[in-house]
Amino acid sequence: MKALVVNRDCVRHNVRCVKERAGGRPIYGVLKADAYGMGLPEIASILSQEGITRFAVTEPNDAVRLRNAGHTQQEILLLRSTSRREEIDLCLDHNVTLTIGSQDAALAVNGIAEQRRTVAEAQIEIDIGMGRYGFLPSEIDKIINLYQYMNNVAITGLYAHFPSAFGNPKITKAQKQTFDDLLEKLRAEGVDTGLVHAANSSALFFQEDCRYDAVRVGSAFTGRLPRRCKDLKPATRAQCPICEIRWLPKGMTVGYAGVYKTKRPTKIAVLAIGSADGFCIGKERDSWRLRDTFGYLLSDLKRGLTRRRVFVRINGVPARVLGHVGTGHTVVDITEVSALPGQMTELDVNPIYAARLPRVYES
Ligand SMILES: *Cc1c(COP(=O)(O)O)cnc(C)c1O
Repeated sequence: MKALVVNRDCVRHNVRCVKERAGGRPIYGVLKADAYGMGLPEIASILSQEGITRFAVTEPNDAVRLRNAGHTQQEILLLRSTSRREEIDLCLDHNVTLTIGSQDAALAVNGIAEQRRTVAEAQIEIDIGMGRYGFLPSEIDKIINLYQYMNNVAITGLYAHFPSAFGNPKITKAQKQTFDDLLEKLRAEGVDTGLVHAANSSALFFQEDCRYDAVRVGSAFTGRLPRRCKDLKPATRAQCPICEIRWLPKGMTVGYAGVYKTKRPTKIAVLAIGSADGFCIGKERDSWRLRDTFGYLLSDLKRGLTRRRVFVRINGVPARVLGHVGTGHTVVDITEVSALPGQMTELDVNPIYAARLPRVYES
């Protein structure tokens, strides 16, 4: 059966790496997108077993799933601001720490908590360049009001999120400075900020110290970061049996658009797995920065020149993917590889794109 295999030992190894980098600071285990495709309940149990007592999710329903799975003692942080009544109610029902990133959200959370005759626990998000959630640093008066005058909100922390921590130390340093300036002003006003945190996986592993009081890490647990990180172990792989083996004559095209043409009689194996299962799905190219566009052009050119190839593995032996990968099918060259129909192949797939593959856990 085709599947996404999750190796629990590798996840545990990655958790330990993160703990070491965090140097004893509290860790928010980020479990968004079904724990990055690895499975929310399974990964939450591993984190718990490894002593992580704080979770972060982006959907209130995921917080409910965690509570229902027995994670009643952990802190759960909703990792985005919301002004929606249903979401705020659901979080208060399940003892989930809210995020407040705007005056609207502050008024909604405070008002709903007042109606419910309770005090809502919340953290404040600061927008230092993501442009989605968070108060701007210039809105410091509103931030101070939240700490001091909103009687039905208890602020327990303050955080920011770096947009370029995977690659740009200069921008990240400037954004860190913006955050530090704000922290200094708040402290000068006598505000006790609570727990301060900013580092995601890339900031933790690739940037100069951004660790503050705690870190918020998710993708590191998968062992896959936008840049190579030798400490971490890839915790997942996809597997798919060969469904068909055939010989193609020389000069035959393979796949949509016929971009590949056989150069000799070629023995192929067909695998019923494709882009709909996440195979060969990469980062989107939706950048408008000229620099990135050049970067993509260059890497395409390099790929063209060096014919960078994609491989699957059959019994540990690499077999080259021929032509474009289809929605549900992939063709590989096994002229030099011994293989039989039904035999299992291994493929590299980012688990976050592999939601349609059933998951299998090992070790
Ligand atoms: C996703 C997310 C994280 C975790 O990021 P990783 O790079 O996966 O570690 C941290 N903070 C926020 C706000 C996020 O959305």
